[in-house]
Amino acid sequence: MIYFIDGKFTDKDQLNISVDDRGYYFGDGVYEVVKVYNGELYTAEEHFERLLQSAAKIKMTIPYSQQQLIEIAKELVERNKIDTGHIYLQVTRGASLRIHQFPDPSVLPVVTAYAIPNERPLKNMAEGVSAKFVEDVRWLRCDIKSLNLLANVLAKQEAFEDGCAEAIFVRDGFVMEGSSSNMFGVKDGVVYTHPATNLILNGITRQVILKLCSEIGIQVKETAFTPEDALKMDEFFMTSTTAEVTPVILIDGNQIGSGQPGEITKKLQEAFSRQMPVFEKQ
Ligand code: PMP
Repeated sequence: MIYFIDGKFTDKDQLNISVDDRGYYFGDGVYEVVKVYNGELYTAEEHFERLLQSAAKIKMTIPYSQQQLIEIAKELVERNKIDTGHIYLQVTRGASLRIHQFPDPSVLPVVTAYAIPNERPLKNMAEGVSAKFVEDVRWLRCDIKSLNLLANVLAKQEAFEDGCAEAIFVRDGFVMEGSSSNMFGVKDGVVYTHPATNLILNGITRQVILKLCSEIGIQVKETAFTPEDALKMDEFFMTSTTAEVTPVILIDGNQIGSGQPGEITKKLQEAFSRQMPVFEKQ
């Protein structure tokens, strides 16, 4: 597998990463996951724009432009011959002796990326998954796609141990988002989701779905709702780069609506599939 690190494309076993990298010590960095469909990057501009914004929010300057990041991602797709899969790209504040404050003199951020094959989750999309409410113990800057994912890791593990595919974070009595996804409920034909504040990550898939809702004429309310409201929804679904639009049919053991993927959810899945790159490989 060919990785990208510090400006070079290199074999995984040739990677040279410092044990002093602030990613290891502090999770001091940001990342993105970009989906590849049929060898084409999907919404890469939006993802790398968000990466640059995440970096700026933690006072870090990425040594590449949005366009250069897209070129790196494209080259990884080509070199690794990825058809359907994803790119993972992370940037840490660099390597230096372990002190909390930023290194002075400053060091160059470390950019690492790879491309990996990964099929679309068609079974989950067709059948739906179960989820579990978990208390949101994260910090107050969930809008930053930071490498600090300990609370997300623990929440996802708790969900998995309960046989669930995803944890739904609840903060102060309101549904926020999933441990690695955004959450949506549908009631009487209206789609509800938490507004894009500092308390959630404004998912790129979330933004695509909101745009598709407006194109199809589905009403959306970006309003926080409670776990009790969630259980009374007619339909529920989650979105992310890798999960796409996955129905949630069971929460904490309670069936949502009919217990089957809902009509609006299916409509959005179809609309989503229609606008992804489906270029035939020559
Ligand atoms: N929220 C969180 C906490 C996430 O980790 C993710 C996945 N990166 C999402 C939402 C969904 O974001 P996206 O649609 O950009 O993958």
